[in-house]
Amino acid sequence: MRAVVVLSGGQDSALCLALAVKKYGPREVAAITFAYGQRHSIETKYARRLARHFGIAAHKVVRLDFYKDITSNALMDPSLRIKRGRKCPNTVVEGRNAFFLMAAAVWAKSLGATDLYTGVSQADYSGYPDCRAVFIRAQERAIRLALDYPVRIVTPFMRKTKAEEWALAAKLGIFDLIANETVTCYNGIPGKGCGKCPACKLRNRGLRDFVRA
Ligand code: ZN
Repeated sequence: MRAVVVLSGGQDSALCLALAVKKYGPREVAAITFAYGQRHSIETKYARRLARHFGIAAHKVVRLDFYKDITSNALMDPSLRIKRGRKCPNTVVEGRNAFFLMAAAVWAKSLGATDLYTGVSQADYSGYPDCRAVFIRAQERAIRLALDYPVRIVTPFMRKTKAEEWALAAKLGIFDLIANETVTCYNGIPGKGCGKCPACKLRNRGLRDFVRA
């Protein structure tokens, strides 16, 4: 096995999966999806469908049940209204990518894979600190030291805008798949989404920019 993709069922991680499969072939790629108490189990359903679509060697859905015991946010608590905060939306799940990447790395080591793909981006930046390049480099080093294993965290979209991601989807011939078979929306509506939440606004603005370009 060569690569493990952190697969949420959203646009960014679906494109990461496509890139890993293009580079290594489906038999060398595994994906891992985390159920951490997010509002919408529909994300894991779409992650499963994407894994099947690409015919990858293995896909795991792993539960991080402890998350709701240590933090609260609008992505996990349906009674909170989703708001754009001063620094970042109140949908931030503190430290999520730190847990995801460490867990994915532990599995990757057991599979003999060294590439960890994640769709984080600081370009169309939502303001989540654990999506920034400075964190990813630090986490890569932390994982290498923790596991004594040469993991490489691959972030194809760190400096790409959503419009550039749509262009890549078109170039890979999977525009319709990304447009219809992924869930980015914080309200859990697949494809175009609700159109109103911060995630939909970012996704749809990128799509408009891509169409216009
Ligand atoms: Zn939405």
